[in-house]
Amino acid sequence: MESLLDFEDSVRDSPDFRRKLRLFEADVYELETHLDQVMHLCSKMVEAGQAYNAANQLFLSSLTKLCSYQEQHAVLTTCLNQFNQGLREMISFHTMLFDQMQRAINHQLSNLCTQFLPQLAETRKDYVRIREDLEMAAVKNAQVSRHKAGDAERSSHLLIATRKCFQHFSLDYCLQLNSFKTQQRLDILNSVFSFIHAQVTFFHQGSDLLRDLEPTMKTMAAQLSQLSTENSAKRKELENTHLLVQQRDASGEPSVSPQPGSSSIIQGYLFKRSRRKSKTWKRCWFSIGNNQLLYRKSQEDEDLVLFEDLRLCAFKPLEKMERRFCFQLLSVQKCCILQADSEHLKQSWLGALQGSIDLAYRDKPQHQQKEMLSTSSSGRGGAFGGPGPPQRPPGSSLALRGSGNQVCCDCGEEEPQWASINLGITLCIECSGIHRSLGVHLSKVRSLTLDSWEAEQLKLLSILGNDVINEIYEARCLEEGRAKPRAHSRRAEKELWIRQKYVDKRFVRSGASEGQDRDPGLCLYRAALAGDLVAMAAALAQGAEVNRSFSGEEGRTALIAAAVGGSLLACEFLLLNSANINHRDLRGRGALHAACSAGHTGQVCLLLKRGANQYAADERGQDPLAIAMETAHADIVTLLRMARMNEEMKDSEGAFGAAGDDQTFQDIFRDFSDMASHDPEKLRRHHLDRVGDEDERK
Ligand SMILES: [Zn+2]
Repeated sequence: MESLLDFEDSVRDSPDFRRKLRLFEADVYELETHLDQVMHLCSKMVEAGQAYNAANQLFLSSLTKLCSYQEQHAVLTTCLNQFNQGLREMISFHTMLFDQMQRAINHQLSNLCTQFLPQLAETRKDYVRIREDLEMAAVKNAQVSRHKAGDAERSSHLLIATRKCFQHFSLDYCLQLNSFKTQQRLDILNSVFSFIHAQVTFFHQGSDLLRDLEPTMKTMAAQLSQLSTENSAKRKELENTHLLVQQRDASGEPSVSPQPGSSSIIQGYLFKRSRRKSKTWKRCWFSIGNNQLLYRKSQEDEDLVLFEDLRLCAFKPLEKMERRFCFQLLSVQKCCILQADSEHLKQSWLGALQGSIDLAYRDKPQHQQKEMLSTSSSGRGGAFGGPGPPQRPPGSSLALRGSGNQVCCDCGEEEPQWASINLGITLCIECSGIHRSLGVHLSKVRSLTLDSWEAEQLKLLSILGNDVINEIYEARCLEEGRAKPRAHSRRAEKELWIRQKYVDKRFVRSGASEGQDRDPGLCLYRAALAGDLVAMAAALAQGAEVNRSFSGEEGRTALIAAAVGGSLLACEFLLLNSANINHRDLRGRGALHAACSAGHTGQVCLLLKRGANQYAADERGQDPLAIAMETAHADIVTLLRMARMNEEMKDSEGAFGAAGDDQTFQDIFRDFSDMASHDPEKLRRHHLDRVGDEDERK
């Protein structure tokens, strides 16, 4: 209180008082400046706080969205919800804090600024003016001459009146200054106190809130630690898979094997030539599944069907194109040219196309086996392309019974899942790929698990098998000092081995080297007649020409000999190795004639199935049906008649035969086919006057 102005001094208006007043006024002015500054800065701070709140709100919303991407996990979801709620409450606490801060500073202090100070300024103006008036009155009063008594009295009165007025104003001004000085102290302290109080409230609320969240924090921490453990395990697993796939699949060679769970048998990228005039090439994703060729134009598109039914298509490699690795698919409606990235891939696709067609022939239900008008490039088809035996379980277990078939024929890998049906061996997936690349004329590859098998082909696998075939194809390995690749050998090494073994036939012991003058072609012929599959395989390995006809034997080929001999398996084996089914001997008789005249029902069935021409007449003008009637083989007559009827029906329905093979025909045909494979005894009972040799030569 010592710094307040003294009222009595103010009445006296001494120089001391004036000095004091000046200082006092300077003090008030400075205070005013500070007050303005504090209020201004407070507003700024609150504005910034509101901006912070708005940003915080946005941030929280996006954080919530981020968390919603986490997989559904009940405990974690509850935790996240509680955190979110807590953080939102923090925002409302902040809002309250900023509100309180504004109230504490601006509202409290505005009283000083808006009421006291303007009034003070007004009063000061009056005070200054009256002080000047007083000084002027004093001067005038002093200047009056003693001889002018009237003037003297007037000025004396004026001086007194003015002084009185001044003293009045001066006291008033002093009071206001002193009041301001005392009031400001209270207001400022009050304001600071409110400000601190707002802060205390804010932090108390925050603290309570966070304490409430503590159990949730503990739950979350436990969950996180568990997740972290799971995570390391998962990462380990991912790294292992990564490594495995890198070693196995990331060789730069595109993989064409289908994704697990897909119904495709092959899929990958191919270039497709546009059928428009521009002939542009577009890279599309192709797959073969359900006997259809599908493709996708772009990532967003659905699969489109390029060829509805692959059995109605022919395909062939295009060697004369400017571009490499091209092949063509043809159906009645359209023609399409495709290009693979490499020869190997091209072969894989051709193999898969062939495989798909074979598979469809073998295991499609009857109602899908219609519209058989065109045949594949394999030469399959003719009148009997359609019906196959009923669906059978995959061949793996039966095929693996053959000697040595439990490991891959070429590298020894365990549990081979593939087979080369014309060679009669089982293969691992890698070697099967290499075999495919050799071309179907050398090796016809099938899956033991995916494809379904005909009984004859499974029997071939168990009679020939890896041990037998390796004895033939690896006979001179020791002499050559050549070691066989192992399961873990590099692909290139396996490839070289397979090429040397089957294409170059480098390790096959030739008949001549054993000191005998053996003609492999003749060996094949005799073995086919005798139904000796092992000897046939050996003769083929030694280079026997499958379709050679022997003038000493009436111009017969090995296939005709097999038909005469009566072995179903020998026929199948030769057909798999590209025997010409319709070759006729010097007397105009082919394998079907021979089988009919010998009464081998199973063989007749097989030959018809493989597309033998049943209308060809021999030198006596007799076709197979006439021969069967002459020799009175009832079953064979039935079979041939059924086949013929079926053919005629198809013809009468036009080239695009909508109905396809007759249902009854298919049923009967299948019965015969099955009986020939599984129960040849039964067929023998149907013979009327001849006892045929239906020996399976197991
Ligand atoms: Zn292998």
